[in-house]
Amino acid sequence: MNYEPLFDEYKTEELHGRYITLEDIEPILNKLNTHNQLEIIGKSVQEKPIYSYRIGSGKSKILLWSQMHGNESTTTKALFDFLKLLNSGSDLANKYLEKFTFLAIPMLNPDGAKLYTRQNANEVDLNRDSQTLSQPESKILRKTFTEFEPDFCYNLHDQRTIFGVADTGKPATVSFLAPSYNEEREINEVRAKAIAVIVAMNAALQDLIPGQIGRFDDSFNINCIGDTFQSLKVPTILIEAGHFQKDYDREITRKFIFTALVSGFYCIYENDIVDSKTDQYLNIPQNKVVFYDFVYKNIKINYDSTKIITNFAIQFKEELIENKLIFNAYIVEIGNLDHVFGHFEYDAHEALYEDAEGNIPKLDKKADFFLDKNTKIVNGMIKI
Ligand SMILES: [Zn+2]
Repeated sequence: MNYEPLFDEYKTEELHGRYITLEDIEPILNKLNTHNQLEIIGKSVQEKPIYSYRIGSGKSKILLWSQMHGNESTTTKALFDFLKLLNSGSDLANKYLEKFTFLAIPMLNPDGAKLYTRQNANEVDLNRDSQTLSQPESKILRKTFTEFEPDFCYNLHDQRTIFGVADTGKPATVSFLAPSYNEEREINEVRAKAIAVIVAMNAALQDLIPGQIGRFDDSFNINCIGDTFQSLKVPTILIEAGHFQKDYDREITRKFIFTALVSGFYCIYENDIVDSKTDQYLNIPQNKVVFYDFVYKNIKINYDSTKIITNFAIQFKEELIENKLIFNAYIVEIGNLDHVFGHFEYDAHEALYEDAEGNIPKLDKKADFFLDKNTKIVNGMIKI
């Protein structure tokens, strides 16, 4: 299948960027609600509606939820792109709608989405609440899971820019996990089904972003929703949208998540779910925290009238300021950076560091400085 033109055709243009809230998705949901597919399945801590959208009449039931973590919106965008495909009347859409019944919760944590936080309005990480079920959003997801009785679950997230694919120096643009259901991380028939789907998604993505797909650590934590659902015998797939080169808005990564969804469902459609794919799954290299947004090397500083050559790393902090998401760059590590990569790397060849106060790079300092007086760096980026 040729995924890129498919994405171009069904991209939901109304959604873009990283700050996606309930106000952004409600009009689109209402537009898609041509046959009463939309339902309010409950309310968040701050009494915001949590929606589900049901489409298809097939036997195989698929439950997907996105933005369980409020600031993780890329998979929400891709989910809407996929819903648009399903509503297109195309041959592929009709195939999927005959085979599957999809139930999508596009924004499980609308309060966190508004605040641009991982947690909900009570500052609880909903992905650590799947046993205690202390939060309304957790209860809603569990109730939906119990009533719908899915054959597959899709747990949709974003990951930070810090993740690379092992030590290859490539960013983990998409990561997958078939969560464990026990401490021993055994692979039973349930988990093997999730693995088979991931292997198919990985194969489709390797054509588009070779070497930029990672596998998440499968340490067992029953408080995580994926581990819980897997242990309740429903194959569960975690998808993490990550960084693609220069794509901080994740408008390119969005295409790869769409590709993962379409290719994974094709694999289930074709009944290509055999439990001999474990080796291929384990061959996907593991994710590793090895990246910073910027790495500046061989910087000269004058410290107590001594010359020092050092390196430092800069990371964006995503800050919500007056309802706008701003990426502010701060210095986060100074010293030997041989073990890390930068999405942007610059060798200063011992150029002199100067800034507005002190002329010494310090942790948590805003990344605005000069190199040899003539190279100006603003918010981490070089502006000659
Ligand atoms: Zn997450």
